[in-house]
Amino acid sequence: MELYRFTLTEIAKKIKNKEVTIHEVLDSVFSRIEEVEPQIAAYITLMRKEAYERADYLQKKLDQGEDIGVLGGVPIAIKDNICTSGVKTTCASRMLENFVPVYDATVIKNLEEAGAIFIGKTNMDEFAMGSSTESSYMKKTKNPWDLEKVPGGSSGGSAAAIASDMAFAALGSDTGGSIRQPASYCSVVGLKPTYGLVSRFGLIAFASSLDQIGPFAKTVEDTALMLNVIAGHDKKDTTSAPIEKKDYTKALQNTVKGLTIGIPTEFVKEGIHEDVKQAYDQAIETFKDLGATIKEIQLDYIKYSLATYYIIATAEASSNLGRYDGIRYGHRASDFKDIDDLYCKSRSEGFGAEVKRRIMLGTYVLSAGYYDAYYKRAQQVRTLIIENFKKAFETCDVILMPTAPKTAFRFGEKTENPLEMYLEDIYTVPVNIAGLPAISIPGGFDHEGMPIGIQLIGNAFGEETLLQIAYTFEQNTNYHERKPNKI
Ligand code: GLN
Repeated sequence: MELYRFTLTEIAKKIKNKEVTIHEVLDSVFSRIEEVEPQIAAYITLMRKEAYERADYLQKKLDQGEDIGVLGGVPIAIKDNICTSGVKTTCASRMLENFVPVYDATVIKNLEEAGAIFIGKTNMDEFAMGSSTESSYMKKTKNPWDLEKVPGGSSGGSAAAIASDMAFAALGSDTGGSIRQPASYCSVVGLKPTYGLVSRFGLIAFASSLDQIGPFAKTVEDTALMLNVIAGHDKKDTTSAPIEKKDYTKALQNTVKGLTIGIPTEFVKEGIHEDVKQAYDQAIETFKDLGATIKEIQLDYIKYSLATYYIIATAEASSNLGRYDGIRYGHRASDFKDIDDLYCKSRSEGFGAEVKRRIMLGTYVLSAGYYDAYYKRAQQVRTLIIENFKKAFETCDVILMPTAPKTAFRFGEKTENPLEMYLEDIYTVPVNIAGLPAISIPGGFDHEGMPIGIQLIGNAFGEETLLQIAYTFEQNTNYHERKPNKI
């Protein structure tokens, strides 16, 4: 088998046991990239030179008998909104086209200490706003399962890279579904950790009360390993939780006996594709057969999640993106009359249509005359949604939902009508609103062979239970073994 096909856990072991050299692993991954990247376009920046230099360094250490970490020598991809010192971090925006951070995000430091090798920065929706990666200023990332279709978004590049074996794991960010939804569209595993579990220091902010960094991987085991490395308290992020480091791989037991899975039947009813519904029902049956208790739950306010999300997220975005004015940060227009004109032109040229739409919406809901009617109300509903989940978790250990109502769609299908695009987030945004952890795992295929993801939602800091249940599902199904045959 080609080396790039192995899982992260397997390849790390092969490197450690000296069955393969780190150089050989990199050769394999970069030859894979040469082969399929021209079609997929998952990467904005490739870090070939840096990667090989680091490979030499790590191999030398290993040969001297030193420990090179749990991810020692493993090629990893990073979403392009996570700051990498000395390497362009563009947010897929013209605004930050030439931005080179002078520092590393905390997660980058964590991964580096664990021996990872960064091989590139992945494509995304501009400033992580979108569900298809089509709002990227840089390129169009294709879904490895069907090159005519989107990979999902906003972390579409990371998901496509893992699905096509162009990296062993990747980082993404999830504000309203941006890890889970592309994971679902591309048939890989994607985890959005509890708010505060993973440091956001160095993540370029979209909506700070919702944003969270998380891993993409080929298996649940690899996901747990990545979480081990990136989770942990960071004093540079004031919202980081003072939680002790854990070994999440210890939670990977193949059993769901004694566990209760909540099913929000009322919520998973309308607007869902028949094949997705079928896969969802099948997942419920699988868990039943494996000995879990299935329990219907009621989440009364969850239907307001989407409306709440698009008020809070845009409000925070309009504030966070205020810094890109051509002076403090970002693209500067070359021709302007005065300072107002400079701001205006720089922002008009630097931002794409979706980002502008969000800034305008956000500014509107925060404006004096509308604050109470929209923003304040959304915050109140947010509290109700949080209460809903709290109550549900008194009677169940995790909640099972589809990740997205449909499978990957064609390019351009939803760009005309932004509301349709927003509807793709219906099952993912409640999780961010409540700050909970959730994982998307491969859960089936539609009648055209496009992947379907199922989502497990955990209680706050309940990643261990979440991973255990996801692992059990994976061990007892074979959806994750199927690979895209178009590339
Ligand atoms: N699709 C959602 C949005 O457009 C979520 C994006 C995200 O999680 N970054 O806002």
